[in-house]
Amino acid sequence: MPRCARCGSPEGAIYIDYMKKYLCRECFLKFYERKVKNTVLKHGMFKGAVKVGVAVSGGKDSMALLRVIRNTFPNMELTALHINLGIGEYSEECELKVKELCEELGVKLVVYKLADEGFTIPDLMNTHYGKRICGACGIVKRYLMNKLSLELGVDRLATGHNLDDTVELLLELYLTGRVEELVRVKPVLEGGRGMVAKVKPLIEMTEKENFWYTHLTNTPFAMLECPLVKGSRMIARKKIIAKIEEELPGFKHLLYKSHVKRILPRLEKTVEKPELKACELCQMPTTGKVCAYCKLVSKVLETVKAHGKAGG
Ligand code: SF4
Ligand code: ZN
Repeated sequence: MPRCARCGSPEGAIYIDYMKKYLCRECFLKFYERKVKNTVLKHGMFKGAVKVGVAVSGGKDSMALLRVIRNTFPNMELTALHINLGIGEYSEECELKVKELCEELGVKLVVYKLADEGFTIPDLMNTHYGKRICGACGIVKRYLMNKLSLELGVDRLATGHNLDDTVELLLELYLTGRVEELVRVKPVLEGGRGMVAKVKPLIEMTEKENFWYTHLTNTPFAMLECPLVKGSRMIARKKIIAKIEEELPGFKHLLYKSHVKRILPRLEKTVEKPELKACELCQMPTTGKVCAYCKLVSKVLETVKAHGKAGG
């Protein structure tokens, strides 16, 4: 068995591919927690915050996030926010695991059931949103997480976006030249005027590192896969990125760092911020007359009426 590159222990069980090093369990946990803490401090993610909301889906990334914040900022007032998306067994497992972890860590949990809005994510499959279900699901989660955070009065909302998610998004946005969206790919998104400030403490951590952290700390997470995700373009892009990383170790870190350090400051100077107005239906901020969420809701409620009850 290879030796740990930090302490020399013969139990170097975890291989960090972009560093080309093995670490033992203890050194990996220290390395992981220190790295996340540094990301938070470097970007002032919790500066001046008293109450921090943590968006927890039940997947490994957000579950790792909740534990690592609890461990590295033990005095922070945390509230875990979970949305039950109504995706059958999958959503039930997610909610169960989130409850289990919150109980273990002693973190207050707020669960919101999407069915209370009159629909569930599977209902979107009967609309044109079904073609890009993850994009539509993202609109729902972002809107409701923001609304819940404002209602609960949290100062920041921490999300579990990891390096792999970020690089996948960068690839998509660079390929299609969507600079207005590229300028919003960053570790901290300022809040104000109906928007809670959002922070991404895991933005420099890979999916694999988050997996190892949950595994080595016995953190529960949902093992079931979302049944709606099959064949998504996002998964195809992640596979391509994994292949590039295999050939060029460190590719993901390099792309992210170049974006944040070199490209983002220039984009921020040149890309105009969109003018935000209040949505005519819900009053939340939007660039158009009606926000993306209200458009989606009016479409999906038509089909729910036609097909029966939410999720039916
Ligand atoms: Fe939503 Fe897609 Fe995630 Fe399923 S895989 S929960 S549809 S974003
Ligand atoms: Zn609206």
